[in-house]
Amino acid sequence: MASRTCLLFLLVAFLAGAFAADVIEVNRSQREFDYFALSLQWPGTYCRGTRHCCSKNACCRGSNAPTQFTIHGLWPDYNDGSWPSCCYRSDFNEKEISTLMDGLDKYWPSLSCGSPSTCHGGKGSFWGHEWEKHGTCSSPVFHDEYNYFLATLNLYLKYNLTDVLYKAGYVASNSEKYPLGGIVTAIQNEYHITPEVQCKKDAIDEIRICFYKDFKLRDCVGSKELTSRKSCPKYVSLPEYTPLDGEGMVLKMPTEREAL
Ligand code: 5GP
Ligand code: 5GP
Repeated sequence: MASRTCLLFLLVAFLAGAFAADVIEVNRSQREFDYFALSLQWPGTYCRGTRHCCSKNACCRGSNAPTQFTIHGLWPDYNDGSWPSCCYRSDFNEKEISTLMDGLDKYWPSLSCGSPSTCHGGKGSFWGHEWEKHGTCSSPVFHDEYNYFLATLNLYLKYNLTDVLYKAGYVASNSEKYPLGGIVTAIQNEYHITPEVQCKKDAIDEIRICFYKDFKLRDCVGSKELTSRKSCPKYVSLPEYTPLDGEGMVLKMPTEREAL
């Protein structure tokens, strides 16, 4: 009996060791990133696709819904156009960023009712998804959630793309089309770098601006990509946000998990 217990103990110890080695291997197998992309989403475009409402979806805030670009994420990228993801195990803990909640709710809300997957199985929040998938790869610049989220908010507030476009005459409209080149030029003139722009059909969906690891601005690698699946036509729109309480909207009852 004693030897059986001993064997069992050895097996558990071996499996635990093998598992730990695996996690370390995942961490090591992804080399250090080259630069950051701050990815901003346009609510007017994203919210047009919303079919269901729930409390966590900022598209459903009616007159308080965001009308400026909001944050999708701060993404560590490689110069060859690829990127690392889920670099080490660090389960998202909302308590660590509790003091940033006001800013996160306002500038980095989820525009969806969906619960994205976490890196290690299960479902989580939009913030949890961004931290685990991208934030964990931002080492050696950031080692913890708090600094990752704080720096992202600060970059967002420092580089106000909605304002840059507004000053150049590019404002939300459901009737105007704007030259993509004009929008890119407005950002180039302001910041002396080329952003990456992505569209859904002819509507601007996301704009990314990029940074070296010391947060000096630089071109995004995708800014030279002309054949991307999400590349934009020559003339693009910046749809206005339309409140989602109209006909056809379904107020979705939260699932047990969402209600928690
Ligand atoms: P999509 O296929 O919708 O463009 O991107 C899906 C997801 O892949 C994004 O939400 C993001 O998590 C990741 N992703 C897409 N493009 C990039 C990129 O250029 N850099 C990084 N780091 N992640 C990206
Ligand atoms: P990614 O494309 O970053 O890998 O995955 C984004 C995940 O987060 C998807 O499962 C998507 O449904 C969920 N999600 C929740 N809120 C948002 C949001 O505001 N924007 C985007 N792009 N995805 C969101």
